[in-house]
Amino acid sequence: MAHVISDECVSCGSCEGECPVGAISEGDGKYVIDADACVDCGACAASCPTGAISAE
Ligand code: SF4
Repeated sequence: MAHVISDECVSCGSCEGECPVGAISEGDGKYVIDADACVDCGACAASCPTGAISAE
C-alpha cells in the first residue's frame, strides 16, 4: 500500500518536504509518490492544499 497523488495536484510542492522517507518528487505535470519507498504514514496528505493525496 502507498499514498497516491491524483490529478488534483497543482504542483505546488508543499508535500515534498513533509515526507520522512523522501518518496515524493516532481513528475510530469504533477508530483508523484514512489510506491516502493512510501511507508503510508500520511504526513503528506495533510499538507496538500487541494486534497490530492489519499491512501490507495
Ligand atoms: Fe511519504 Fe508518508 Fe506521504 Fe508515504 S504517506 S509519501 S511515506 S509522507
